[in-house]
Amino acid sequence: MLEKIIKAFKNRFGADPDFVVRSPGRINLIGEHTDYNEGFVFPMAIKYAQWLAIKANKTDHVSLYSADIDKDVVFSVTDFSQKITGWACYPQGIAWALHDNGYPLKGWDGLLLGDLPLGAGLSSSAALDLVTARAFSLTGGFQWDPIQMSVISKQSENQWIGLNNGIMDQLISATGEKGKAILIDCRSLDIQPHALPTDTIIVVMNTMVKHALVESGYNDRFRQCMEGAKAFGKKFLRDVTMEEFNDGADRLDEVIRRRCRHVISENARTLEAAGCMERNDPVRLGQLMNESHASLRDDFEVSCEELDIMAEEGQKQPGCYGARMTGGGFGGSAIALVKTEYAELFMKNIALIYEAKTGIKPNIFATDAERGTSVEYTKD
Ligand code: ADP
Ligand code: MG
Repeated sequence: MLEKIIKAFKNRFGADPDFVVRSPGRINLIGEHTDYNEGFVFPMAIKYAQWLAIKANKTDHVSLYSADIDKDVVFSVTDFSQKITGWACYPQGIAWALHDNGYPLKGWDGLLLGDLPLGAGLSSSAALDLVTARAFSLTGGFQWDPIQMSVISKQSENQWIGLNNGIMDQLISATGEKGKAILIDCRSLDIQPHALPTDTIIVVMNTMVKHALVESGYNDRFRQCMEGAKAFGKKFLRDVTMEEFNDGADRLDEVIRRRCRHVISENARTLEAAGCMERNDPVRLGQLMNESHASLRDDFEVSCEELDIMAEEGQKQPGCYGARMTGGGFGGSAIALVKTEYAELFMKNIALIYEAKTGIKPNIFATDAERGTSVEYTKD
């Protein structure tokens, strides 16, 4: 990828880049729709990533070409009166949020070329945020603090783009570690790396569908969770225990009750998952993943037929410990925790079953946990 992107940059801009940076996509092992409730999530970075080659251009403009979608954009790093719509709102939003926090910004020419599927629920948007922030830190000469840059990226998505998402996607893309999934406390931003159980691998099953509900569904769930927390006299569902929920559940509207039950039980499952990793117990970890899927499907109602097929058929396969949808839902990807020696067979079987049931060819791959945002090339 490095040679390929340097060559593409040279073709486009007629010079070598100063830097090449990358930031990976992610899956979430468990802990779904808990981040914006200030709860716990357990993501890991995957082998596919966004790559960005850049060269300082001595102006106060960024000129960015995405070879992935063959589109370009120019935006100012000092004047944010013109908000761009479409894909370039992500990089522009990062510039805005950095500027808003007083970071010194300089212009650059950039080219994006990666191997991470876009819009597949693997968080290409957060990875795009992070490569952009990394580019600004290199050209503007400010220090790279992965956690602080995740906070900035979240601010961009919440305030510039208008998505009520939590911090998981940005934080894992920034802080991923080779061989480790990362338990994140979305309140304190404390991160705890844990190795996956031995002889297991994650299989990612991209349904290749994305239903229209993604944004509205997400914002609805956010509102319902906040309403649920308020009914318990708390700001966030993170602070409601299962006992408190059981005692007060009768007072809640039926839909809010189910939304709360998902978040509260999912937080408990996510913390238990860390214990499974500690004692190297893939069997219980897999059960928790299966329970998580059922809760997202029935109580939180963010799954869909395609994700259910992936998760439920996955669960039946030999060598599979557990399977669930991952990410926001309404399409995108599911994941399975599979005994490494069964991974090839698992992928073959699921591809056949999914296509037979839906008529859609899925994209299925196995991945270890990979490291987060990195600088891959510096011109000497
Ligand atoms: P996900 O983050 O799961 O991939 P999203 O819908 O949140 O899905 O983000 C995908 C969108 O992010 C794309 O439709 C596009 O607008 C933008 N995007 C991400 N990566 C790139 C890229 N390399 N080039 C251009 N746009 C990108
Ligand atoms: Mg996204």
